[in-house]
Amino acid sequence: MSEKKHRLHFPRIFDPSGKRMVEISVLVDNVPGMIAKVATAIAERGVNILWGVHHEADEPDFGWWCFFIDATGVDVEPLIESIKRIEGVRYVHFSETTFGDLALDVHHSEQVFGEDRVIELRQRWLAGALKNIYEKWGDDGRFLMYQLGYYGGYESYREWRERSKLSGRELAELDLKIIEVLGWVSRAELVEFDPEEGRVVIRTWGSFEAGMRLGSGFLCHFIRGELTGFFSAMFGKGLYGTEVMCEGRGDPYCEFVIAPKPFEFGKELGKE
Ligand SMILES: [Zn+2]
Repeated sequence: MSEKKHRLHFPRIFDPSGKRMVEISVLVDNVPGMIAKVATAIAERGVNILWGVHHEADEPDFGWWCFFIDATGVDVEPLIESIKRIEGVRYVHFSETTFGDLALDVHHSEQVFGEDRVIELRQRWLAGALKNIYEKWGDDGRFLMYQLGYYGGYESYREWRERSKLSGRELAELDLKIIEVLGWVSRAELVEFDPEEGRVVIRTWGSFEAGMRLGSGFLCHFIRGELTGFFSAMFGKGLYGTEVMCEGRGDPYCEFVIAPKPFEFGKELGKE
């Protein structure tokens, strides 16, 4: 399978490059050919469609196609009227979206995954906050990031298992694919998977934590937490995650070893 990937420019806030951008959202019957019909009506007026998203609608049997056009010098109202006349188009709305030197998607409210809201943070913003947290709180701050990852990984296990209907190695590989899709790492590989021993080794390239350059050393506390939580849930016991190689210290990749705890404080993990 080809591993060729290209970068996705965040499609909701962007530089309009001096153009007048208009956002158009079209609710259409969920049948083949609707995008082609709408695109043809727009092309007939010589208007360029820039980027957009085609997605499921809350109403069953309909779909949304939401996109930006270069509306510089375009009479938009007649264009919208021509789209409305297309058979299978249920609803159309449009908005001016250029605010100074930025264009914003103003047609979508929250992004959801099932019933869960998905939020987005820029890496640089997080890096600024973490720099302060690590400076002020040291290992306590790093432990906080680890815990954040651990909780998410632990909870995600059930979710991905139920939704994907996969288990074992296939489910482990799915989790790695998902952290790639979420942009936490560029690539992840399952190097060792031993459910009997409760031991897993994972390599990642392009971890966002290593990429934040918050010092040198082992930097990937959140990713280590996510993997440890995920496999603790999978194997049904509290595991211990160590990062043994890290891009943050000049290694060619980050490597995580998730294994049974070398020792335990009593029965439960006490307050640290
Ligand atoms: Zn790392």
